[in-house]
Amino acid sequence: MSDIAKDIIVNLFIFISLLFIYVVNVNITSRFKTYSHFKKNLLVLICILGVILCYFFPMQKTNGTPIDLGLIPVTIAGLYGGWTGYLALLVSTLFLLFITDHTMSIHLVISGLAFTVFFYYFSPVYLKMRLRLKLITSVSLSSFLMAVLLWKLHVYSFSLTTSVMFLFAISFGTGIIVYTLEFSHNHFLILNQLQRAERMNVVSHLAASISHEIRNPLTSSRGFLQLLQQPSVSDEQRQSYSEIAIRELDQAERIIRDYLTFARPAPEQNERLNIQDEILKVVSILTPLSNSANVQINISMIEGWITGEKTKFQQCLINLVKNGIESMPKGGYLFISVSTSKNSVVITIEDQGSGMSSTQLARLGEPYFSTKVKGTGLGMMVVYRIIESMRGTITVKSQIGKGTIFTLTFPSVK
Ligand code: ADP
Ligand code: MG
Repeated sequence: MSDIAKDIIVNLFIFISLLFIYVVNVNITSRFKTYSHFKKNLLVLICILGVILCYFFPMQKTNGTPIDLGLIPVTIAGLYGGWTGYLALLVSTLFLLFITDHTMSIHLVISGLAFTVFFYYFSPVYLKMRLRLKLITSVSLSSFLMAVLLWKLHVYSFSLTTSVMFLFAISFGTGIIVYTLEFSHNHFLILNQLQRAERMNVVSHLAASISHEIRNPLTSSRGFLQLLQQPSVSDEQRQSYSEIAIRELDQAERIIRDYLTFARPAPEQNERLNIQDEILKVVSILTPLSNSANVQINISMIEGWITGEKTKFQQCLINLVKNGIESMPKGGYLFISVSTSKNSVVITIEDQGSGMSSTQLARLGEPYFSTKVKGTGLGMMVVYRIIESMRGTITVKSQIGKGTIFTLTFPSVK
């Protein structure tokens, strides 16, 4: 293999390793934060690192003119990091040249600034493109830059085959990187959307049982108010009837309030959560559902504090308790208990329902795995993701026909 081919492979290997670092990093941080957009700063930083590494592992110097695949990170930084990212990259490149060669090429400064302007206008347009167009655009852009460079600087230094090899390497490298970036970006976007879809699904499901449940207190307080209208009612009865009517209305009001605090989108931020309060709220949101399924919820709790996002934690408990209720179509008991050990809070949710086989257990948490006619199979996926984001753990014990026990463990806070 010619030396140039070897050098190209080394350069490409550098980029693929850097890409790997980026994707793994995004994957890990996205578990603890919602994924919103490309992690621009990290990407630009990695591009800068790419340029530096390429500079120190350049291609064969033919006639003393080094050339490398540094144009790949340059293109990526400009397209994905915007003009600020590109400027950061330009400044660090110039700095690198300055400290190693003690030269400050005026051509580089001028063309670099021109590209900053170019990316200022082009990067927003680029980011709105579809995948195929993005691939075509980025590959053409980097190959075009490489062609210009080969033609301008090295017109006599490289043979035609070598130039073609460079062009091929740069297209190939840019293509792989853009495709992988877009692929991982879409992956996280879809996961986020699934989580939101599951929430909407649970909310609409609960709404049905809640409107039913509110009708009961309303009808009964209406009945007592009617009784009050009768002239024959004694003062004592009047007092007690109106108390009952007020209590029933309060009950209806509480159901609506709890439901709304859960259904309304809330700012996502970590806070200290009182386990007892959260469980009581979740149980009261689900009481209409458990009543209609003839399930009795028993709670035994002690005080414990953890940290996390309120609505997400509630969503997690709701999904688990809802599954428990749904596993007992003929009714039964569902037990929720909280205990604490030295540094952790342990929540168990136990039902006496259908249970799961070992194959079902193995697939639990997989998106779209559902054994229910109207199931979405997203509930447990969301549960696993939320628990992971709170740095907790979950274990499941289940026996067909006997029931299921979920044990959640979270680090406790003072
Ligand atoms: P869905 O409830 O929409 O089916 P989930 O992700 O919440 O989706 O649950 C996936 C599957 O796991 C359910 O269809 C059910 O087969 C099983 N499952 C989950 N929790 C329980 C439970 N407590 N008892 C029995 N089976 C369960
Ligand atoms: Mg479910």
